[in-house]
Amino acid sequence: MTSTLLRGRTLSFVRWPETIDDHAAWLYEEDGGVLISDGRIVASGAYRDVERQAGEAAKEIDHRPHLLLPGFIDTHVHFPQMQVIASYGAELLDWLNTYTFPEETKFANAQHGRRIARLFLDEMVRHGTTTVTAYCSVHKASAEAFFAESHDRNMLNIAGKVMMDRNAPEGVLDTPQSGYDDTKALIKEWHGKGRQHYAITPRFAITSSPEQMEMAGALCREHPDLHMQTHLSENHAEIAFTQQLYPRSRDYTDVYEHYGLLGKKSLFGHCIHLSEREADALSQSGSVAVFCPTSNLFLGSGLFDYQRFRRRDKPLRIAAATDVGGGTNYSMLRTMDEGYKVIALNGEKLNPFQSFWQITRGNAEALSVVGKIGTLDQGTDADIVVLDARATPAMRLRMETAQTLAQELFLLQTLGDDRAVREVYVAGRAAKSDIAN
Ligand SMILES: [Zn+2]
Repeated sequence: MTSTLLRGRTLSFVRWPETIDDHAAWLYEEDGGVLISDGRIVASGAYRDVERQAGEAAKEIDHRPHLLLPGFIDTHVHFPQMQVIASYGAELLDWLNTYTFPEETKFANAQHGRRIARLFLDEMVRHGTTTVTAYCSVHKASAEAFFAESHDRNMLNIAGKVMMDRNAPEGVLDTPQSGYDDTKALIKEWHGKGRQHYAITPRFAITSSPEQMEMAGALCREHPDLHMQTHLSENHAEIAFTQQLYPRSRDYTDVYEHYGLLGKKSLFGHCIHLSEREADALSQSGSVAVFCPTSNLFLGSGLFDYQRFRRRDKPLRIAAATDVGGGTNYSMLRTMDEGYKVIALNGEKLNPFQSFWQITRGNAEALSVVGKIGTLDQGTDADIVVLDARATPAMRLRMETAQTLAQELFLLQTLGDDRAVREVYVAGRAAKSDIAN
């Protein structure tokens, strides 16, 4: 097995950076090396040390002066919405009914699903994202298309067919039984196959009947190691409708709580308008609140209270995500730029190290996969992004006055997008070059 030695400026996080000077929170090498063999990181650190371990046979790729980071992780995204993104003028429920549900009916067709899955994962890789937690459509074929495409590329992805049996057009509905059966079959076929992970995916309380929620709870009990993903407390009309549909629930979170859907592997998209009781319930169960800034701004849903959620007595585990197609960009850099502004509107700041922690190690921790991805640690999978802070004339000009790593990272976040992504390695394979060819 030939190994590959990447050379560049390496940055990887050890824990949440409390401040901009909290140097112990990250590992940075001005002249760094990452040694890859058989899809894994065998060694990382100062180039001199890593080179010594590499031996003569290793193929060296010199990425200097660019930054090498763990590949970005997007923890909430809808792959069937590539032709929904950029749809004008609606709040959540209208947006779903007008654009999203009609579009998702097309995924009954397996060919269509495979085409979009291919283009979707191309787009993710082009933007430096090496892992997604994805919603498929209601159709079993859409999840099969996604996993087949993901497995072919050897990407670590988490996905599930959405379960939805009411309040949507016929073409995107299952039934409690068929949703359960299809999910079971998909888990059997795909979970643990190569790097694929299955997520039990009831879309949200509005589109699932109590009978279907029971089934989702049963699936979680039968497969406690699996992720569960859904939406929670995104928009006022959505919250009011949910209360109407589940009149005996104390609040929106209680609907999911009642059916046993809270837990350490549970991901709740949005969490914008939570009461203190709801935030406590999420915290106590170890559930994850997923921050989707471009989507929340685009649909006018509200401002996620990132720093307060972190600081409260019972803190929340937080992930960050694009939520394409409600989200407006595939890039985690663009996502954190908008995230910074949302947090600023709440009177707080997110420093650049915290941002880059979030989209690498932070998201890996939120997904409970930090032993596999999200760092450049020895023994983890070689999913790596190469970033160029001088990718455009405007960035190049601005970099003339940037003097610190913090300034460079903030510039990348504020001005950067897919053009700043020079290369992406997926399990050690140069995946962005593959697409360009
Ligand atoms: Zn979503």
